[in-house]
Amino acid sequence: MVHVGTGYDVHQLVTGRKLFLGGVEIPHPKGLEGHSDADALMHAICDAVLGALGEEDIGHFFPNTDPRWKNVPSKIFLEEAARIVALRGGKIVNIDATVIAEAPKIYPHIAAMKRCIAAALDVSEKQIGVKATTNETMGFIGREEGIAAMAVASVDLP
Ligand code: MG
Repeated sequence: MVHVGTGYDVHQLVTGRKLFLGGVEIPHPKGLEGHSDADALMHAICDAVLGALGEEDIGHFFPNTDPRWKNVPSKIFLEEAARIVALRGGKIVNIDATVIAEAPKIYPHIAAMKRCIAAALDVSEKQIGVKATTNETMGFIGREEGIAAMAVASVDLP
């Protein structure tokens, strides 16, 4: 049976950090603040996959108080989520995700993001959807104080 999960994540944009989204380093004067590399897109996808399994969230599996996850690339979290899917005898059907950022432009990096996400989850790029939108200058995203991402995952489970 196909199970669906959702994920949402947001991180603050700060100076002195590199910006990673979907596993891709994007040139920008600011980066996302967080314990790991703060890749909000990969975190939202991770939560969507865990949600489809009915598992607890990314913060449960990878607490931000654990020094092991300090500044690590977030693909590690996706690899672990995919490992849990496999342990349960499941298969990821597809992922669809949206990045909400006022800046920088996300579109030129989407193909690379899909490659990174697909590699981390050990699925085909064709199973990964990544889209991007702005917040039309409104709110904290519009003021470029942060970047959010949301995702849906569907997982076929026995
Ligand atoms: Mg996060």
